[in-house]
Amino acid sequence: MSGRYPNAISGDRGIAAVLWDVDDTLFDHSGAERLAALEHLASEGLLERYGSEEEAAAHWHEVSEAYVRRYLDGALTFQDQRRERARALAGRAFTDDEADAWFGGYLGAYQHHWRAFPDAVPALDALAAGYRHGVLSNNAAFQQDQKLRALGIRDRFEVLACAEELGVAKPAAAAFHAACAALDLPPEAVAYVGDLADNDARAADAAGLTGIWLDRSGTEPGPDGPMRITSLAELPALLAEPRRFGRAA
Ligand SMILES: [Mg+2]
Repeated sequence: MSGRYPNAISGDRGIAAVLWDVDDTLFDHSGAERLAALEHLASEGLLERYGSEEEAAAHWHEVSEAYVRRYLDGALTFQDQRRERARALAGRAFTDDEADAWFGGYLGAYQHHWRAFPDAVPALDALAAGYRHGVLSNNAAFQQDQKLRALGIRDRFEVLACAEELGVAKPAAAAFHAACAALDLPPEAVAYVGDLADNDARAADAAGLTGIWLDRSGTEPGPDGPMRITSLAELPALLAEPRRFGRAA
């Protein structure tokens, strides 16, 4: 094993690198999506169709998730899922150019609201010396690259692995294995941090990595839940001594 993976660290701790999810882990995607959706619907005169801002934001999110799922399943290209979202959310039979223009209005607002979570950079700082870092995301590489640069943290990650380029998406084990291979590390030497208990943490565990669920909302964990933190501030201690944070804790 050590011959195949020269960068692996042997010994008790074992974790040599952290792979990160981006959206809603390092980057407040839901917050930016909500604010941008409300601004864009208002500017298009569509907000009054809804009973409340909550209802409008929830509908936007639901439609977005449905089309993103079809993109991840290979049924739509990245650009086409954006066009279909524009048609569905505007309720109009847009041409491709019209759909691009309409969705572009949303994207401008979305980018205006791009923010890292307050605990993201401090955690990356605290873990900079002891671990190598990479990203594994189901979003498109060009968008994640642009996003991480805008947040000023692109240079923290030596690997940017994204579903479209890999040809496989989380929760498939092959997605995690491809990201580990890009780091030239075996899965057991890599921790994965993400905001989804199943798609991120359990899937990483199943692929042989150390999956860590970032449960920002403090959801009550189930008895067989994955290793869990509620803030990235807890991550350095967990990585230094993962057994203390095991499922039995
Ligand atoms: Mg996420």
